[in-house]
Formats: sequence, C-alpha cells, structure tokens
Amino acid sequence: MKTDFKPAFLLDMDGVIYREDQLIPGALELIEAFHANGIPFLFLTNNSTPTPEDLVVKMRHLGIDGLAARHFYTSAMNTADFLAETYPESTAFVLGEGGLLAALKDSGIANDAIAPDFVVVGEGYPSLEKLNRAHGFIERGARLVATNPDNWCPVESGKTRPGAGATAAYLEASTGRMAYYLGKPNAYMFSRARRRLLAGSGEDAGRHRVVMVGDTMETDVRGSIEMGLRSYLVLSGSSRLEDLHRYVYQPTRILNSVKELADEIRHGKPVEFRPRGDTAALPRRAGRHSTDTENYRERSPRPPMTRTG
Ligand SMILES: [Mg+2]
Repeated sequence: MKTDFKPAFLLDMDGVIYREDQLIPGALELIEAFHANGIPFLFLTNNSTPTPEDLVVKMRHLGIDGLAARHFYTSAMNTADFLAETYPESTAFVLGEGGLLAALKDSGIANDAIAPDFVVVGEGYPSLEKLNRAHGFIERGARLVATNPDNWCPVESGKTRPGAGATAAYLEASTGRMAYYLGKPNAYMFSRARRRLLAGSGEDAGRHRVVMVGDTMETDVRGSIEMGLRSYLVLSGSSRLEDLHRYVYQPTRILNSVKELADEIRHGKPVEFRPRGDTAALPRRAGRHSTDTENYRERSPRPPMTRTG
C-alpha cells in the first residue's frame, strides 16, 4: 500500500535562517511557503539564553512576522523537560541566563543555593565565585547537567565565544564528574521536538515525514540520524562540503541554502543540488562539541612501504 507522507520540518536557526543578525536569503520565503502550504515547522536551537518569546521578537526584527512562542524549542526547554520528566520536584543551582531560568521555573524545578539536586550549566559567563559554589555542590553530591555540548559558539565577524560545553568542561575537570549534555545532538532533544512538532496533528502524525534542516554535521545531522529522521544539510553555516568525507554520519540531502527548499515547496518541483563556490563557512576548529566522539583528526600520511634511496 502506498502511503503519501506529508513533510514536517525541524529547523536549526543560526547558519540556517540567519547569520550574524542577518537573514539568510530564502529564509523569509521558506517560512511563507510553510504557512501557505500548511506545513508544520519548529525551530530548534542549542542556545539556552533566549526564551521562545525573545526569539519571536528577534525573528520579527530580522523581518519574519507571524511566529509565536510555540514555534521555538530551545536546549534550555529541553533540559527543563528532562529534569521535570526524570526527576520531578528536583532542585537546581543554575549557571545560565534568562531563557534557562524561565524554562526551569515553568517546569517546576526550583532554584536552590543550599543543597541542590542538580547543577545546571547553560550559555553565559558565570563568575569564578559561582563556578566555585557549583564545584562545591557537585562534590557534595549534586549531579552535573548541561543544556548543550557546544564548546564555542560563533558570534559576529567570524569571532567566537565560549559555550556551555566549555563551562561544563571546567566543572568536569575540577570535580572529576562527567556532565550529561542535553540539546542537540542528544536524541532526547529530537524526540521531544518531534513530539511538539506533531502535537495537534492527531491521526495524521504518523503520516508526517520529519526532516531536520541544519548547518552543522556534529549536532543537526548526527542527532537526526540517531533519531531516525531525515536531515538536510545547508551549506550557509558552519559545515563545509569539502569536510563531509571526514564524518561517519552523512545527511540525507545537501542544499546550498534554504532558498532551494523554499523554491521546491513553492513550485512543487525537486531542486537539484549544484554546489556554489560562495558558501564561505567559519574556519574549522577542533572539538566544537563535547560529545562528538568521532571528533575526527587528520592522520599523518602513512610512511612509504619500502625505503627508497
Ligand atoms: Mg546552526
């Protein structure tokens, strides 16, 4: 029996929709095409700092109207979902910003600076004094959880900043206790996001084919594979076409940018991928994500089999 699958999309934001507070060409058309064709979509971000309401405002400033808080799912919300589901009524000492504090509050996880069950690390710039307190709590039995494994994050003009993974790594080093990382590529992020994306689809939910659109192999593509989702890699962000052969996991499909996907939905005709030469990406650094166990390294060339000369 032939089943007609309907598409539904999970969308990464940075490197897919915008870069450095500039909308990527085609992003507006894509969201308009989703609305016009009744295609479900949900934005997915490892940034734990903003609330969904903040992201609605950000997108409006970038030129995309008509979005609501329900269109966004952040690593902070994922961490709050995880704690609320696994350890209801637990308490947390939080190193993080507004989006993380709000998500934990919404999930009934209380702030605790005396005897917390968890130290929760998100994006931000914690003081050494706060790191010292977190260290003490972990030594006394609190468990270490991080919103996402990003060691560094891109900011403007090709610069980077330390990410939540780096803060968690500091506490891992000082306490000898390993953190549990939520957010992409953790399958818990994708399964929760998928559930939200399809909520309200009723009996149609099983007929949706969920596609993740992202720009980063280690998070977007890896997590999709592990969750059994399709993945479209766009070359408008961090991963580069010439580096793909280094990865064990591969995307279902490669696109230059979301513009091609927008055209495809609008015209109802498949777009063929033609690599463009102008998709400059950030310089590659080692160890972007703490959980990238495949963290590939250039092997030194194999020495000649026989000595010559
Ligand atoms: Mg991205």
